[in-house]
Amino acid sequence: MTPNVKVIDHPLVQHKLSLMRQKERSTNSFRNLLGEISVLLAYEVTRDLPLVYEEIETPLAKMRAPMLEGKKVVLVNILRAGTGMIDGMLRILPSARVGHIGLYRDPETLGAVEYYFKMPSETQDRDVIIVDPMLATGNSAVAAVERVKTTQPKSIKFVCIIAAPEGLSNFHEVHPDVPIFAAAIDERLDDHGYILPGLGDAGDRLFGTK
Ligand code: URA
Repeated sequence: MTPNVKVIDHPLVQHKLSLMRQKERSTNSFRNLLGEISVLLAYEVTRDLPLVYEEIETPLAKMRAPMLEGKKVVLVNILRAGTGMIDGMLRILPSARVGHIGLYRDPETLGAVEYYFKMPSETQDRDVIIVDPMLATGNSAVAAVERVKTTQPKSIKFVCIIAAPEGLSNFHEVHPDVPIFAAAIDERLDDHGYILPGLGDAGDRLFGTK
């Protein structure tokens, strides 16, 4: 088992993922399920955010109440499929900042090529959560983390829906310090770098482009 990977085995996550995998599922339903799963993953990935006690007043009394400490979290959307996870995560992290990284997969080498990068200011004081539904070869994830590391954030976590074992090994060879949160680890990659059994092309299913 690859270290530093947390599989979110909550029954709601597992059920929603099974529905997403079904090939007959509509674009609308796939998109909604990806959003719902992302809410649940955001809940798990933020479990260790530090709290600070601040004095507040309820209608009845003063108290010292726990609040999230520090600057707002940054969600980083790996374009384009990561887009399907951002709104769900923002449901429970409504003040989070959002960065974007555009990477496409060279169809010959399967290597990641960057075409866009934009992060919020003062990243060095913030926790970063990078999202992409499919961790397949791991090349995009590796490149995204490498690029985000240049902004020197406080911490980085990577969240996906399905990971392939090959991608996890590749990722952790380069970034053993970055924890991965996934709803499932599938069997393997096919010859085109798709995850089996997987759910197909997440971007195409999300945007109805195929
Ligand atoms: N990207 C996808 O969308 N699906 C896969 O199976 C692999 C990479």
